[in-house]
Amino acid sequence: MQPTRKKQIAILGSTGSIGTQALDVIAAHPDRFEARVLTAANRWQLLAEQARRFVPAAVVIAGEQHYEPLREALADLPIAVYAGSDALCQVVTSQEVDMVLTAMVGFAGLAPTIAAIRAGKAIALANKETMVVAGELINSLAREHRVPILPVDSEHSAIFQSLMGEVSPIEKIILTASGGPFRTFTTEQLQGVTPAMALRHPNWDMGAKITIDSATMMNKGFEVIEAKWLFGVEAERIQVVVHPQSVVHSAVQYADGAVKAQLGVPDMRVPIQLAFSYPERLASTFDRLDWYAMHDLTFERPDTERFRCLALAYESLRQGGNMPCIVNAANEVVNRAFLEERCSFLAMADIIAHAMQHTPFIAQPTYDDYVATDAEARRIAAARLKS
Ligand code: NAD
Ligand code: MG
Repeated sequence: MQPTRKKQIAILGSTGSIGTQALDVIAAHPDRFEARVLTAANRWQLLAEQARRFVPAAVVIAGEQHYEPLREALADLPIAVYAGSDALCQVVTSQEVDMVLTAMVGFAGLAPTIAAIRAGKAIALANKETMVVAGELINSLAREHRVPILPVDSEHSAIFQSLMGEVSPIEKIILTASGGPFRTFTTEQLQGVTPAMALRHPNWDMGAKITIDSATMMNKGFEVIEAKWLFGVEAERIQVVVHPQSVVHSAVQYADGAVKAQLGVPDMRVPIQLAFSYPERLASTFDRLDWYAMHDLTFERPDTERFRCLALAYESLRQGGNMPCIVNAANEVVNRAFLEERCSFLAMADIIAHAMQHTPFIAQPTYDDYVATDAEARRIAAARLKS
C-alpha cells in the first residue's frame, strides 16, 4: 500500500465543544490526520495542554493579553506562538495546511474563513454564523478558489450524506430540530426562564452560545439559512420538523417522493470525522443506535409564535441582502445579554426585530458592508437593550 500523506488540519477554536471533539477524532486516527494549527480565544492553559499533546506547528491565542504566559508555557517546544485576531487569518494560509475546521463562535469566524478559502484550503464548516452572514459571498469565493465546504453541523452533514450518490434535484429538505429545553413551555412559562434552565439542552452538550440559540430556536433559523447556501435550496423548500429524540439528523425528499435520511446517536464526532475523511468513512468506536430501544420517534410542527426567532430568521432570508447579517449581530448581543441576565428570554426576539427595522438595509452587500452592518446592528441592539 502507498503511504498517504496525513491531512494537515487547522482548528479555529480548538478549546471549544467542537474543537475538543475534533481533537478526539484526530487522536483516534493518528495515521490519517495531524493537528497543524490550534487556536483559542482566551483559554490559554487548555490551549497549551493541547499543544503539548498534539505538537502543532503553530498556535494562536486571540486574546493578546495571554500571549506571554502561553509563549512561556510552550518555550521548550518547536511551536510558533502568535496572538491577536489578525494572526488567525495568517496561520490558516500556511502552505502545509490542507483543511481548516471553523469551530469558533459568531461573526468573528467570517474573516479567517475567507482568508482560508482565498488560500485554497478545504473548509470543514462548523461556524454557521459565517454562512448566515455572508453565504453568497462565501459560495462565490469557494467556487472561484475551487474549495470544498464540508458541513460539520449535524443536520447539514445528514443532508450532505442523504445527497451522496444522487444526481437528481432536491424536492425538499427536512431539517430536524430537537425543539430545545423549552419545547413544551407556554408563553407564560417562557417569560420566567433563566440561563441555567436554557443551558440544560436535552440531547447535545455544546458551547453556551449555540445552546441558548437552540433554546430560542434561532439556531434552527440559522440552519435554514445555512442549508440554503450549502445546498442551493430556497427557504420555501426547507421544512423544519421538531423531532425531540434527535435520532433522525435531517433528510432529503426527491421528485419521486422518496425520502433519504441519516440517523444515528447524537454525537458530533461523527460529522466532524466525516468532514475530515470525506469521501471515505473511517471506523469509529462511537455508540451505535439501539433499534429495539427506539419505541417512539416523534415529529411535530414548530411553533413560531412561541419561538419567534425562527420566524425572524425566515423573514431575514426572504428580505435577503444584509438582513441575515443584522439578525446575527443583534442575536449575538441578546444571546450574551440573556446569559448575563441582562435580557429576558422573550425580549430577545423583540430586540432582534427592532434591529431589523432600524439598521440600514443593503441589497447587494460587499465584505466591508457586512463588517459595517455587524457593527451598526450591534450598536442598535445594545442601545435598545439599555432602554
Ligand atoms: P464553544 O464556545 O464551545 O467554543 C468556541 C471556540 O472558539 C473556543 O475554542 C473559543 O476559544 C474560540 N473562540 C470563540 N470566540 C472567538 C473569537 N472571537 N476569536 C477567536 N476564537 C474564538 O463553541 P462550540 O459549541 O464549539 O461552537 C463552535 C461553532 O460551531 C459555532 O459556530 C456553533 O454554532 C457551531 N456548532 C457547534 C455545535 C456543537 O455541538 N457544539 C454543533 C453545530 C455547530
Ligand atoms: Mg445543528
